[in-house]
Amino acid sequence: PGGLERHSYDVVVVGAGGAGLRAAIAAHDAGARTAIVCKSLLGKAHTVMAEGGIAAAMGNRWPEDNWQVHFRDTMRGGKMLNNWRMAQLHAQEAPERVLELEDWGALFDRTEDGLISQRDFGGHRYARLAHVGDRTGLEMIRTLQQRAVALGIDVFMECTVTELLKDVSGSTTGRVSGAFAYWRETGRFVVFEAPAVVLATGGIGKSFRVTSNSWEYTGDGHALALRAGASLVNMEFVQFHPTGMVWPPSVKGLLVTESVRGDGGILKNSEGKRFMFDYIPEFFKAETADNEAEADRWYEDKKNNRRPPELLPRDEVARAINSEIKAGRGSPHGGIYLDIASRRSPEFIRKRLPSMYHQFKELADVDITAEAMEIGPTCHYVMGGIEVDADTELSAIEGLYAVGECSGGMHGSNRLGGNSLSDLLVFGRRAGESAASYSHGLGGGRPAVSEADVKIAQATALAPFEMEGGAENPYAIQQDLQQTMNDLVGIIRTAPELQRSLEEIERLKERARHLVVEGHRQYNPGWHLALDLRNMLLVSECIAKAALERQESRGGHTRDDFPQADPDWGTKNLVLRIDAEGTGVDLSHQPLPVMPDELKSLFE
Ligand code: FAD
Repeated sequence: PGGLERHSYDVVVVGAGGAGLRAAIAAHDAGARTAIVCKSLLGKAHTVMAEGGIAAAMGNRWPEDNWQVHFRDTMRGGKMLNNWRMAQLHAQEAPERVLELEDWGALFDRTEDGLISQRDFGGHRYARLAHVGDRTGLEMIRTLQQRAVALGIDVFMECTVTELLKDVSGSTTGRVSGAFAYWRETGRFVVFEAPAVVLATGGIGKSFRVTSNSWEYTGDGHALALRAGASLVNMEFVQFHPTGMVWPPSVKGLLVTESVRGDGGILKNSEGKRFMFDYIPEFFKAETADNEAEADRWYEDKKNNRRPPELLPRDEVARAINSEIKAGRGSPHGGIYLDIASRRSPEFIRKRLPSMYHQFKELADVDITAEAMEIGPTCHYVMGGIEVDADTELSAIEGLYAVGECSGGMHGSNRLGGNSLSDLLVFGRRAGESAASYSHGLGGGRPAVSEADVKIAQATALAPFEMEGGAENPYAIQQDLQQTMNDLVGIIRTAPELQRSLEEIERLKERARHLVVEGHRQYNPGWHLALDLRNMLLVSECIAKAALERQESRGGHTRDDFPQADPDWGTKNLVLRIDAEGTGVDLSHQPLPVMPDELKSLFE
C-alpha cells in the first residue's frame, strides 16, 4: 500500500536492552545488514537499571569456581526445571562474554590484584558477580550501545513493533518476513522487511501493581511470538524480588538491590528478630548457616562457614518475608526491615551501594547508613518466555529468534541474581549469529511480506480510535488488570483465586473490545497503552492459566493448596500456544529434555 515507510534488512532486532544490543552486534559482525527497533530511547531499556552484577564463573575471588559449579547452582536455583543445555552454555560462556565486554571498554570494579572484582549473591556458591558498584547495567548498556553505534548499526528508537509479519497471511505456521511498527511520536506506520527477526523485548512486570519494572514491560515480545504461532514455556514462574521499597507510595515496588544482603545486610521483623533462620528449607540446609555467629563469619571466611540464610534464592526469601508480614510482624508501612546500617560502616555502604544510598535519601528521606530500610516483595522478573532451541535461540517459527528476558527455559522455575545479565550476553551473541547465518543461507529465496497482513496490522493498530460504542478507558483497564494480577496471581496462589483471575481477565478482555481513545495519532499515550493492553491481557492469561494447572509449589510458583514440590511435576513443562480463534491460549504438558549422565553426576 502506498505511503507506508518501508525498510529492508537481513536481521531486525526488536529491543535495545543487553540482549538486543548483543544480538545486533553479533549479527552485524557476521555480515548481516542489521537494524535495532526499540520502543523507548536508546539506553533506556531495563538493562540499564540492573544493579548487582553479571554472574560468571571467572574464579577471580575463588579459584575453586568453575562452570560446573555455576551450572549446578543455576539448576538448583531453578529447582531443576531449567533447560539443562541452556544452563550449561550459559555457565560455560559467561566468563568469555564478560571479558569481551571489558575489551570493549567496560570498567569493572577490581580486586586487590587488579582482576575483575566478583561479589556474593543469593544462590551462588562463590562470589561470582562482576560489577560496577551497584550500577552494573548502566556500564553494560553504555559499552554495548557505544559499540553498536560505532559499528553503524541502524537504530529506530521510540518505534513500537505491534505485529510480526509472515509470508503466509493470517497463518500460525509459515516463515517470518518482517515486522510492523509505529513511530510513537508521529503515530506513522513502518514496515520492516527481514527474513530474520530477533525478539529481545524484556519482561512483563507492568501487568502487576507492585513491580520493579518500568512502563515498557508489557510482554510485547511474548505476545507477538504467541500470535505468530510460537510457543511459551514456564509462564507460571514469576519472580517476586524479596526487597522492593514499600514507602512512600509513589515508589512502592522500586528495587532494593540484593547486593545489600550480599554485602552484609540482614532482614529483621518488628520484634527485631533476624527471622530468616526460621525459614531454611530442607533442600538448602546443608549449605546454609543455622546460627548468627556462623552466618556472620561467612563474609570473611567462606571456606569454613556456611552462607547466611538471607542469601537463599529469591523465592525462598520472598516467601519468608511474606509470611512474617502476614503473621503481623511487619513494619509500619507493610514491609519488614533490611538493615545494613548496624552492620557496616557508613563509608563502606556509600562506596559499595552508592545508588541505594541516594535512592533512599532522595525518595524516602531515609539514611541507610544510619537506619534500617523498610522493604517488601515486588514483581521483578519473568522466568517464562518464548520457547527456543538452546544452541540457536530459534523459536518454533522459522526466522523468529528470541533472547533475554522474553525467552524461556534458561532459568527454570527461579532465576538466580546476576544470571540475567550473563544470559543476555551469552544468548544475545548466539541469537545474532544464528539469525545472520539463517538469513545468508536463504540467498534470493527470502520470504515476501504478506501485504494482506500489513493491511490487517494497520487496521488493528487503528481500531482503538474506531470502536463502536466505546466507553472504556485504557488506563482503568490496565489498573484493574494490575490489581487482579497482584491480588489473585501473586506470590502465594490458590485454585479459587486463580480461577477468579481468569474470569476477571476474560471480563477485562471484553471491556478492552470497547475501548475508546481520544485525540490523534501524534504522541498519544492513551493509544499506546491501548495497543500494549492487548499484549498484557494475553500474557496475563498465560501466567494465570499455567499457574492454575501446576498443582505444586516450586521456585517462583507457590500454591497454598499444594505447598510441596511434586516429583511428577518436576519432570514436565507447561507450554502455551495461541488458540484456534487467535484470542486465547491452549496449554499442554511437555516432558523436560533429558540431561546427559556426565551433567547428572554433578548433582550426586
Ligand atoms: P530489556 O533491557 O528489558 O530491554 C527490552 C527492550 O525492548 C527495550 O529497548 C524496549 O524498548 C524494547 N521493547 C519492548 N517492547 C517493544 C516493542 N513492542 N517494540 C519495540 N521495542 C520494544 N539482572 C541481573 O542479572 N543482575 C542484576 O543486577 C539485575 N538487577 C536488576 C535491577 C532492576 C531494577 C531490574 C528491573 C532488573 C534487574 N535485573 C538484573 C534483571 C535484568 O536487568 C533484566 O532481566 C534484563 O536487563 C532484561 O534485558 P533484555 O535485554 O532482555 O530486555
